[in-house]
Amino acid sequence: MTITDRTALLARLRGCFLGDPKAGTLPGGRSEALRRLHAYDPAAYGRTRNHLTGTVSHLSPYLRHGMLSAAEVREHLKARFPNDPALLEEFLRQLAWRDFFEKVLAWHGRGLDDDIEEPKHAVGRSACIPLDVVKGDTGLPCVDGMLHELFADGYLHNHARLWFAAYLCHFRGVRWQEGARLFRQHLYDGDVASNSSSWQWVEGTFASKPYFMNKQNVATFSGGKWCDTCRVKCPFDADYPTLQHRLFAGSTAPFGSRNVDVGTRDEADTAPVSPDEIGPVPPATELVWVHDAAMSWDDSALKSNPAAAVAFVFDEPALRAEPWAYHRLAFVLDGLDDLYAHLPNPTKLILVGDPAERLAALAGKLGATTVHVSEHPNPWVAETAGKLRLNFQVVVHPRPMFAEYPSEPKRFSRYWEQVATQVLGYRPKSNRNHK
Ligand SMILES: Cc1cc2nc3c(=O)[nH]c(=O)nc-3n(C[C@H](O)[C@H](O)[C@H](O)COP(=O)(O)OP(=O)(O)OC[C@H]3O[C@@H](n4cnc5c(N)ncnc54)[C@H](O)[C@@H]3O)c2cc1C
Repeated sequence: MTITDRTALLARLRGCFLGDPKAGTLPGGRSEALRRLHAYDPAAYGRTRNHLTGTVSHLSPYLRHGMLSAAEVREHLKARFPNDPALLEEFLRQLAWRDFFEKVLAWHGRGLDDDIEEPKHAVGRSACIPLDVVKGDTGLPCVDGMLHELFADGYLHNHARLWFAAYLCHFRGVRWQEGARLFRQHLYDGDVASNSSSWQWVEGTFASKPYFMNKQNVATFSGGKWCDTCRVKCPFDADYPTLQHRLFAGSTAPFGSRNVDVGTRDEADTAPVSPDEIGPVPPATELVWVHDAAMSWDDSALKSNPAAAVAFVFDEPALRAEPWAYHRLAFVLDGLDDLYAHLPNPTKLILVGDPAERLAALAGKLGATTVHVSEHPNPWVAETAGKLRLNFQVVVHPRPMFAEYPSEPKRFSRYWEQVATQVLGYRPKSNRNHK
């Protein structure tokens, strides 16, 4: 299947995405990412970043898909603002959260799907998101507003993510994994590392205590946009000790009841994958596998192999089990258009199916002996490479490093203490730990 065949590709991917194709989605691709990075002014970031109207960068969808690397964002901003390092400090510290969470994923692998630590409370959790939440119709203007933004825009400000996660886990008693799944499906930047770790941070399974907010916090940092006109009985309208007691202290649910068995998926959810024919391809001894977290022509797997065949594979089994909102798919397709337009390589393909199986079939057809891939902490990247290694030589190319931290990443404060000088180029005065 070729890149020009978007209609055919969407037809082939039916069942892998939610909603109908629509215009006006966020443009994906490294060209757009660079344009946004070059236009971004972080001057007011430290002062405003916690407010919904703050001057945040909106770079996360591009970082998530490797259209930009965190290291190059840092280097670019340092070069553009050489005389005022303090201006960048808060921005770079936030960017470091992304690196920290990637290290958490690298450390725990698939274990990040489960609680990293014991919960700090004894409250039971359900494995189902209530229907009113799924429909964005809870009756709470703030929560419905956040859900509307999530579903329609594919983006939520960090503070709104914290509020919504706290609402779903603590006020509605839902397992964090269900919320993480909802975010992965709808956020342009939906990932495993930052997403699962952050949900666990809110739940208190990767933090010393659970995170929750009250009405005053929402009203202040949202600029009153929901609260000023809200007439409903607000579940957040109390001081913190009262909410703490209401949410956690009154429960008698045992810890054991938290791990609700979600059972296996219906057969209908996981329709069998039909292998597509790979059309005629010219022979090539090298194949580069572009995965969805390494979509940059600056990627070293691509840069060092300009004559290799290149392939991206939509992971059909994974997408059938957890379909993306259409806008996520469109973002990745834009990214592929942009990427492939910049690559000199003679053969550039988009495939659909099980990645290891499709790549092996393609490599066989090309007569390739070596498959190149960019390293990433997502476990499925290493798992796929492991399967390919059975029949091919696999070369894993390193990514630009943001910070070196070989210890177990347990708390951001400890990590930041160790890496701040590497990241900033000087030792910061304060060491705040807030998200
Ligand atoms: C419950 C929850 C779920 C989240 N899920 C995701 C996710 O799926 N994918 C994702 O990329 N981020 C996730 N985040 C982290 C954060 O909310 C987003 O990265 C950030 O809001 C993106 O917006 P921005 O690019 O405008 O950020 P900016 O404020 O401009 O920050 C610049 C960059 O720094 C990094 N960053 C900033 N804050 C954080 C943070 N708290 N944690 C990790 N990295 C950060 C991001 O790469 C971001 O692009 C989640 C946070 C929470 C609380």
